[in-house]
Amino acid sequence: MDLKSKIREIPDFPKEGIGFKDITTLLQEGPAFKEAIDKMAEFCKDRQVDVVVGPEARGFLIGAPLAYSLGAGFVPVRKSGKLPGEVVEATYELEYGNDTLQIHKDAIKPGQKVLVADDLLATGGTVKSTVDLVTELGGEIIGVAFLIELTFLDGRKKLEGHEIFSLLEY
Ligand code: 5GP
Repeated sequence: MDLKSKIREIPDFPKEGIGFKDITTLLQEGPAFKEAIDKMAEFCKDRQVDVVVGPEARGFLIGAPLAYSLGAGFVPVRKSGKLPGEVVEATYELEYGNDTLQIHKDAIKPGQKVLVADDLLATGGTVKSTVDLVTELGGEIIGVAFLIELTFLDGRKKLEGHEIFSLLEY
């Protein structure tokens, strides 16, 4: 299936000059959603994955079904103040200002094998913070998987040393 044809581009969202890749049009079609998750799971078929970690909010939409498909656990990374238990946090730079992501301190045991998953790699800030949180807890990153990679933004260079899988490249 041509999965790219299921992704809609919205011009000037969330602000002028940005062509937003809208994945909701892919998610709403059962066969397209299933094929996308199945293909991402293929990437991991020869590796042990104990836990998939996905950042709020679209990372949940990709990470949770991926975890289910792999028989792995799922751990959410959330914006500040959303997780009820004890957390560790990482702050990263946005175009204007900062954002802080948090993970439950007891969500990952040292040595667990972790796949980090998100819908889209742009500048890499979100996923780099997520990787840092997992590493701080002692998790071993076995790979980082995306539905979409915007290659022209070169977010990959923030993930040096990690294996990266992206299903669709722009
Ligand atoms: P980064 O931190 O790599 O610059 O941005 C990636 C994060 O922003 C991801 O968590 C993703 O959900 C969101 N994001 C940025 N641009 C887009 C886009 O065009 N489409 C979608 N679906 N998400 C985006």
